[in-house]
Amino acid sequence: MIKRSFIGLAKPKLEYGSLEDTPSLKQIPTSKEITLLSKCPFDKKNLLFKKKETVKTGQKLLLYKERDEYVVSSVTGQVSSISSYTGDFGRSYTAITIVVADDEEIDDEFKDISKDSSLETIKNFLAFAPGNPPVKLFSDKDKSINTIVVCCADSDLLITTNRYVVKSDIDAIKNGISILKTATGINDIIMVASQSQMHALSTTGEKVNQVNDTYPSALPHLIMKNILGKTVPAGKNPEDIGVCFISAEAVASIGNAFNSNQIPVTKIITLVNKDGSKALVSARIGTPASDIFKAFNITLNENDRIIFGGPMTGSSVYSEDHPVQPDTDAIIIQDSDDIQFISDYPCTNCGDCIRVCPANIQINLLVRFLEAGQYEEAADQYDLYSCIECGLCSYVCVSGMPIFQYIRSAKYELDRANTAEATNNG
Ligand code: SF4
Ligand code: SF4
Repeated sequence: MIKRSFIGLAKPKLEYGSLEDTPSLKQIPTSKEITLLSKCPFDKKNLLFKKKETVKTGQKLLLYKERDEYVVSSVTGQVSSISSYTGDFGRSYTAITIVVADDEEIDDEFKDISKDSSLETIKNFLAFAPGNPPVKLFSDKDKSINTIVVCCADSDLLITTNRYVVKSDIDAIKNGISILKTATGINDIIMVASQSQMHALSTTGEKVNQVNDTYPSALPHLIMKNILGKTVPAGKNPEDIGVCFISAEAVASIGNAFNSNQIPVTKIITLVNKDGSKALVSARIGTPASDIFKAFNITLNENDRIIFGGPMTGSSVYSEDHPVQPDTDAIIIQDSDDIQFISDYPCTNCGDCIRVCPANIQINLLVRFLEAGQYEEAADQYDLYSCIECGLCSYVCVSGMPIFQYIRSAKYELDRANTAEATNNG
């Protein structure tokens, strides 16, 4: 998440990126070592594979006994470590590091089964594909998905991943939609796109709805409200009311997987350099960010910041070796001179945050409870859960308060407390 000063994103109009100002795609050479991150907490006792095992490109690696979480190896090589990895807010992940072999071999488990493009096959092999297809949602009995929204516009600023995929791989998107319809039985497909994409998408034969070019109109909650005419209740997500959001890149991954009989393993990323210049990058999932920087001769200085994700909703990472993940749409490098460090100025009640908030939250009141760590009061009395996480409040705050970090941290802590309570109650 960035502050107002970053590369001249002046209010009031924050426009989404366009492909026109992005150079052609650069392929990053395969790294010597890659790291696959699973959101599953590390659990050494129940691991299903060990160090030194060899893996092939496209091989599904089931992680733990009696759990269905898996990653897909994006390279051929030998597992050199399996360890715990600490992410945002202290979340625990499982990290599998693979030393890449000279010769590549493609795993054929998916090839053998890919004639069957059923929901089971999609669920069992494509959850780790580029774009992170939300495959589990379709068989989640609590969700009852009846509409699929395909996001062809990118949800955060500066990102051009979905725009690139729409421009370069429309046939894979068509194939992916057709497979999804058959596999899920859902025919209510809604495409959401920016004006410049409308023509290309008209060939899909699906309903295409135009999203406004101004941030944050391509965020799911606003698409729900402005295009589908549905309000997502506070604290809920679109899938809780039967709508599944999936990116154009994820749909193309599904289309390409069944077309080529191989699980796709390369991710399209928008790289934003310190001077604001952009590049489109194709890198294997698991590639350390440092290898991408090397390919562009980018040198990081002390206190420069690396952000994974878009400028409004992304998160800082603290290592140049942080790996590309299936949902890494952007990597942004912010020069230390451009970083507006968090201030300890108090809220001046200027009201700017309230004026920009698309959820109409009284943020000046909410922030007082968040600063004091009174999260339950913030949720019960000051609409914490109405926040749709656009980051605009932090962007405009004249006092430089880290409002968005407070909000995310509060939601994370409340979720953790609720999960612990549910576990204790059996
Ligand atoms: S991030 Fe801030 S501006 Fe955006 S919805 Fe939440 S409270 Fe409102
Ligand atoms: S923008 Fe910042 S200073 Fe102004 S009311 Fe909101 S929190 Fe307070």
